[in-house]
Amino acid sequence: MSFVEYNDFIQDGDVAIVYLGHDSLMPVKVQQGAQTQTRFGAIRHSTDLIGHRYGSKVTCSKGGWVQVLHPTPELWTVCLPHRTQILYTTDIATITMMLELKPGSVVCESGTGSGSLSHAILRTIAPTGHLHTVEFHQQRAEKVAEEFKEHRVDHLVTVRNQDVCKDGFGVSGVADAVFLDIPSPWEAVKHAKAALKRHGGRVCSFSPCIEQVQKTCEALADQGFEEISPMEVLLRVHDVRNIYLPLPDFGPESFAQTEPDAQQQAPNHASVTLKTTTPPREIPGHTGYLTFATKPRT
Ligand code: SAH
Repeated sequence: MSFVEYNDFIQDGDVAIVYLGHDSLMPVKVQQGAQTQTRFGAIRHSTDLIGHRYGSKVTCSKGGWVQVLHPTPELWTVCLPHRTQILYTTDIATITMMLELKPGSVVCESGTGSGSLSHAILRTIAPTGHLHTVEFHQQRAEKVAEEFKEHRVDHLVTVRNQDVCKDGFGVSGVADAVFLDIPSPWEAVKHAKAALKRHGGRVCSFSPCIEQVQKTCEALADQGFEEISPMEVLLRVHDVRNIYLPLPDFGPESFAQTEPDAQQQAPNHASVTLKTTTPPREIPGHTGYLTFATKPRT
């Protein structure tokens, strides 16, 4: 098992994702002889997990069953242990596309936080890319480095425990893309520029407040970045529902001429049923603004 390569069978030392139903997921470190308690009873790793196929149903000791899934960055994002606020897949998908990440890309990131975005970046840039991630909180830097090892992606990432605003990313002229998720990104813009390749690259900054976006845009413009474009990703879900439209009453003879379909749908001769969707008037989905920019070739 690795977060960047699929394996059919569960092995000792893997991190598997247990699906308990109703959108509930739990990461499990698979260990010979160990047990994991769930509300359906215990899962015995040696007999219930090791050697079984990812995707199998496992019957727990109280008779209920769970499903054991191969880890992916998307599943990790919804069940990882939170040390900080994290980025979710809707924003991550846009970040990956707009930063033009692909296998082989070199990326700088700060802060690492709980590593939600980092795992998605690593899956995209594998097998030949590299992530340089900077986190100034020592325990968080240590914890995420441990997780990268457990998830067998540590060969693709360097974790640095330093202040990105003071000390930068620890590399210069190597990055294709830089991502910032820190409270004062404008203080790190000059370091982002230095980390990017001489022939240019892309940068993105995530901030919850528009005042942070304004300051970041000013710093990006001062440093010669182009195509500065702040945006927000809101998911607009359309609900399908039935509506009942009254049929106009033109007297007893007129109904016989109506379409047979409408007659069927209107057995009481009074209304017709239609399916329709309405977009929500408000979308309470603000996470933060994403500000993208391009460093031109120098
Ligand atoms: N994008 C991350 C979450 C980042 S939370 C995820 O998806 O999991 C922001 C992190 O930035 C915190 O862990 C904080 O400690 C770190 N941070 C804030 N300012 C920093 C700085 N100047 N240098 C390095 N890290 C910083």
